[in-house]
Amino acid sequence: MSQNRKSRAAATGLIVVAAMAGAYLLGRSDERDGRPLSLVNPAHAADAPQKISPVRERARDFYAPNSEDLRPDEMRLVACGTGMPTARPKQAASCWLLELGNGAKFLFDVGTGSNERIAAMQIPYNFLDKVFLSHLHTDHFGDLDALFVSGALAGRQRPLRVWGPSGEIPERGTKYALDHLVKALTWDLDGRMGLTDPRGYHMEVTEFDYKGVNEVVYQENGVTIRSFPAIHSLDGPVSFVVEWNGLKFVFGGDTYPNKWYAEHAKDADVAIHECFIAVPDMIEKFKFTPQSALAVGTQIHTAPEAFGKMMSIIQPRMAIAYHFFNDFDTTPAINQRIRTTYDGPLSLAEDYMVWNITKDDIRVRLAKVDEAVWPPPATDVPQKPDPSQRIPYSDMIAGGRYDMKSVIQPTYDEINEKYGTNEKQE
Ligand SMILES: [Zn+2]
Ligand SMILES: [Zn+2]
Repeated sequence: MSQNRKSRAAATGLIVVAAMAGAYLLGRSDERDGRPLSLVNPAHAADAPQKISPVRERARDFYAPNSEDLRPDEMRLVACGTGMPTARPKQAASCWLLELGNGAKFLFDVGTGSNERIAAMQIPYNFLDKVFLSHLHTDHFGDLDALFVSGALAGRQRPLRVWGPSGEIPERGTKYALDHLVKALTWDLDGRMGLTDPRGYHMEVTEFDYKGVNEVVYQENGVTIRSFPAIHSLDGPVSFVVEWNGLKFVFGGDTYPNKWYAEHAKDADVAIHECFIAVPDMIEKFKFTPQSALAVGTQIHTAPEAFGKMMSIIQPRMAIAYHFFNDFDTTPAINQRIRTTYDGPLSLAEDYMVWNITKDDIRVRLAKVDEAVWPPPATDVPQKPDPSQRIPYSDMIAGGRYDMKSVIQPTYDEINEKYGTNEKQE
């Protein structure tokens, strides 16, 4: 500690007390000239004995992706998007990864910006092949195209399976939306033919009746997923209930509070429900007019007080609120409003929040992610691409290739030698 900082610290009683407490916690109760060791100039303290290392291994209080196996009776939920349709780096839009102790993994919504959060979990993409969509607003499926293509490129060697609700007319249903999404990707998909493992570039869409109340939409390996209607924007939105191994997980999509959620989310172990920004903050910070703020914040979506009332009705072991900008100056108001109607366990979700759920315990942490993540290895042997599937350039475009053969050839030689291949330049 420099002389300057030392005298500042000495002049501030509180800091000295804190430093003494710090020294005590590290087990360094040694004193020199009546001063705690931590206040002694390190240059003079070099010869002081280290009784206990402050960097000994100890339990983590964060979740490190790709470092923990699930127990056979355990569920892990990861918030891969908790925000709004309006983009911000801090929060992607709605996306929830549910992992079960039997190995099954499910994505609920793939909202705009969530694809990179999914990647940060370092899960082999063959396990990220099941997506359930609550409705067709872009903040709930806006990154599905990115997951579809980049997932196949990164090791999903099977089709992407997507479940979603019908609409009041076919054009408002999931099938229509995703058939056209894949059509919109024609240029992208055509250009990849003959270059990489082709098996992942297919989407299998299962559309189910949005009016189904607690009807089964998925049942495999002891996992049952049911849907029930939500009330939001137009006919069509739904919520989901997952039941597995005596645990019940509910994912509520956007909705005005509804009777189906009150009935079918009852006694959930974990219940996610949307909770919108408090109306005064929508006007002040989001610049909504009072009319729009009231209509959107309380009628199209669920106001914090209504979220709390719903949770008091269903009594989950853990209530999770999302779909608001979670900031230091907006979250206290949301919390306060929820607490006028609900006093049970509550998580105000932010991206990378992680819940480990068993019958006895729910542990809540944040994930620490590697920003420079690479795709995990594929779990099956890659299928070699068939070069005859390549769609050629036109003569005019092919004729524009600058001659680079001599500078590229050493790379071919290097790779052929290292991997025993016999590849040739085009
Ligand atoms: Zn919506
Ligand atoms: Zn939404």
